[in-house]
Amino acid sequence: VKERGKNDFMIYDQTMEQQSLERRILENALRQGIKEEQFYIEYQPKMNMSTNELIGMEALVRWKHPDLGVISPGKFIPLAEETGLIVPLGEWILRESCKQALAWRDEGYPPLILSVNISVRQLEDVHFVEKVQTILHETRLDTKWLELEVTESVLANDKSTISILKELQNLGIHISVDDFGTGYSSLSYLKELPINTLKIDQSFIKDIHTNKASNEIAKAIINLAHSIGLNVIAEGIELKEHVDELSKDGCILGQGYYYSRPLKVGAFEDYMTNIHEA
Ligand code: C2E
Ligand code: CA
Ligand code: CA
Ligand code: CA
Repeated sequence: VKERGKNDFMIYDQTMEQQSLERRILENALRQGIKEEQFYIEYQPKMNMSTNELIGMEALVRWKHPDLGVISPGKFIPLAEETGLIVPLGEWILRESCKQALAWRDEGYPPLILSVNISVRQLEDVHFVEKVQTILHETRLDTKWLELEVTESVLANDKSTISILKELQNLGIHISVDDFGTGYSSLSYLKELPINTLKIDQSFIKDIHTNKASNEIAKAIINLAHSIGLNVIAEGIELKEHVDELSKDGCILGQGYYYSRPLKVGAFEDYMTNIHEA
C-alpha cells in the first residue's frame, strides 16, 4: 500500500512536471524563434464599407516553427506575454511591419494606415516610447500612418500606461481600443483617455443580423463613439448581412473574412492592386 501511494504521488507529480516541462520547451523554442526570426506577418485589409475602399491593414504575427509548422498567435502570444518575451517580439513586429508599410509606399501603392497590436507588457516597458520613436525614425514612416491597437484592460487601471499612451498620441500616433465591449472597465475612462477609435469586438458582429441583443450593443457602441467624437470600426465581418446591418447603424469601417483573410505580403500586394483596378 505504501508503495502504491508513493507511486500515485509520483504520477501526479510527473504530470505537473510534464506540464511545466512542456511550457519550458515552448518557452525555449519561442526564445530561439525570436533569435532566429522564425516569425512573419500577415496583413488584413481594413475597409471603408460604403465606398469599398481599402483604408488600412492590421499586422498579425505568425510563427513558422521549423518542425511544428505554423503556430497561431492564440497559442504563443499568451506565453510570450507571461514570460516577457512579447517585449522583444513586439519590437520586431513593429519594426518589420513599419518597414513593410514604407516599402509599399516606395513601390507606389496607395498610402494606408498600419495597425499594430500592442500588449500591456510592452506598455509597461519604460523604453517603449523611445523604441517606437527609433523604429519610426529608422523606417521613415510618418507617425500619422501608425495606429496601435490596445485592449480595454490596458486602459482600465494603470496611470502610467495611460500617460505612455498620451505621449504616443502626442507624437501623432493613433490609438484604437481593440475588442471593445468585452472588458470589465467602466466607460468613464473614455473621456480622459487618449483614444481615437473603438473597435467593436467580433463577438457582437457574428450574430448582429440575427440576435437583437448583439445588434443593440453594436448600435450603442457606434452611437457612443460618434457622440464623443471617436471613430468606430467593426471586426469579424464575414457576411454581406453584417455589412448591411452595420451600414444601417452608421458604422462604415470594417474588417473581416468577408473582405479578406489576413494575407502574406505577396497576396496583400495583389489585393491592393486588384481593389485599385476594381
Ligand atoms: P485580435 O487583435 O482581436 O485580431 C483579430 C483576430 O481575428 C485575428 O486572429 C484575425 O485573423 C481574426 N479574424 C479576422 N477577421 C475575422 C473574421 O471575419 N472572422 C473570424 N472568425 N476571425 C477573424 P489571429 O491572427 O489568430 O490573432 C489572434 C489574436 O492574437 C489577436 O486578436 C491578438 O490579440 C493576438 N495577436 C495577433 N498578432 C499579434 C501581434 O502582432 N502582437 C500582439 N501583441 N498580439 C497579436
Ligand atoms: Ca487587433
Ligand atoms: Ca480584436
Ligand atoms: Ca481578440
